[in-house]
Amino acid sequence: MASGVVVMPTETVYGLACRATDAVAVSKVFAAKGRPAENPLIVHVASPTMAEEIALIDARARALMDAFWPGPLTLVVPKREGIPDAVTAGLPTVAVRRPDHSVALALIEGAGPVAAPSANRSSRLSPTRAQDVDPMLGDFLVLDGGPCRVGIESTIVNLADSEGPRLLRLGRISRQDLEHVLCVPILDRKEGAPIVAPGEYPKHYAPLTPVRLAASLAEGDAGLTFGQSANFRQVAMPSDPGAYAAALYHSLAELDSLGLAEIVVQTPPAIPEWEPIWDRLRRATGE
Ligand code: AMP
Ligand code: MG
Repeated sequence: MASGVVVMPTETVYGLACRATDAVAVSKVFAAKGRPAENPLIVHVASPTMAEEIALIDARARALMDAFWPGPLTLVVPKREGIPDAVTAGLPTVAVRRPDHSVALALIEGAGPVAAPSANRSSRLSPTRAQDVDPMLGDFLVLDGGPCRVGIESTIVNLADSEGPRLLRLGRISRQDLEHVLCVPILDRKEGAPIVAPGEYPKHYAPLTPVRLAASLAEGDAGLTFGQSANFRQVAMPSDPGAYAAALYHSLAELDSLGLAEIVVQTPPAIPEWEPIWDRLRRATGE
């Protein structure tokens, strides 16, 4: 770990991780990903106490931590001194999350707060298996923690917005889950607001192969289906949204390695449970 950077498993996706206070290692993470400097990183903590050491935690943040940590919810809150500007892209806020993964928690307990974006080149698919970590990222030690149980990136809520809590990215924790705890409406991203999170760019989390959404797959299509696969390039996906999310990026990565002309994805049901998956699929198509 000479570079101070390792690939860390979490329950959402694998992260490219370093001490949040180590500005040199943080710059290596940005460089390895090809990540624009204005895209801040999530700081991973092992406990609410560790979060309070780097951020100002109010009653709402505390309530959300109590309800959903450890788990796939990231809170954007005012930062304290000590976290370098490179981590937060110069913002007065910091994104914090306590992951639900024993390997990640052991690493963070030993190292202190750990900054970690997803372990992929910028705008590509996040890895959810150790073997899906792109070797082009660099020669980093990969801690293999098995398949990620959640499989899509965390929900991000901004608690530092003067107008009220605002959803920045949808993950497994739903808007309703947040509203149930906070008892106030959760605002949407502001139209016309500057893009502060890569999750807000239209094309993100995309394979190299073009992706097309369709009501169903034709017999010769390659892609993701809910039915029986008609050929070996069709992956039969689970009908449960949680299991689908856990399989999504790995399935796309496998198809992406086949050098196909396109990947056809059968559209999931248009109901709230599938909203985070719709979000990732839309981004994968770039629409
Ligand atoms: P990733 O590391 O790829 O999961 O992306 C981390 C996400 O957290 C990105 O969408 C970041 O822009 C977002 N993020 C991190 N810090 C902040 C912050 N202070 N304010 C808003 N979004 C943030
Ligand atoms: Mg990412």
